[in-house]
Amino acid sequence: MSETSLTARLLEVMEKDIIPLTEQGVAAGNKIFGAALLRKSDLSLVLAETNNELENPLWHGEVHTLKRFYEMADRPRPSDLIFLSTHEPCTMCMSAITWAGFDNFYFFFSHEDSRDAFAIPHDLKILKEVFGLEPGGYRKQNAFWHSFWLNDMIELADDSERQALMVQAERIRARYGDLSARYQSGKSDNDIPLN
Ligand SMILES: [Zn+2]
Repeated sequence: MSETSLTARLLEVMEKDIIPLTEQGVAAGNKIFGAALLRKSDLSLVLAETNNELENPLWHGEVHTLKRFYEMADRPRPSDLIFLSTHEPCTMCMSAITWAGFDNFYFFFSHEDSRDAFAIPHDLKILKEVFGLEPGGYRKQNAFWHSFWLNDMIELADDSERQALMVQAERIRARYGDLSARYQSGKSDNDIPLN
């Protein structure tokens, strides 16, 4: 499988599997973050989930996905899976991915996007306040996992395929713009600690 088809497939899972769940989640008052697990072997979907902080402030998109994953009776091994997160995982989720034994994660929006485009500054604030780290200060490649930013993957795609990926990415950004506006307009009503 080419790197481009992996990139296209991850974007497709965001559009077809994660965003529909997130639309329902945001309608209920939850945040816009989601995640999915795919088999490395054939890129088939194992599970997609979305943020559910209204139930429990620890149910970020990624941790909520892991919770559901461990509720599956017959589940693949984490080492055989790709972890896709719509947004760069926060330090809790990054650690959860580590503790669960995944050797990778892929994400579309960066911590800076979460702060600047989505008015969710908590990832970077926790990185700084708790760990003393500047933005980007954690080790993106380490003994546990390698992380990949879809933006980089799109930039590195073959010339013939980059345009289509950029169109797909633009469509995704627009949908998240709408979701974010909906979340932000209703968030004063929720009691999520870091909303
Ligand atoms: Zn998180």
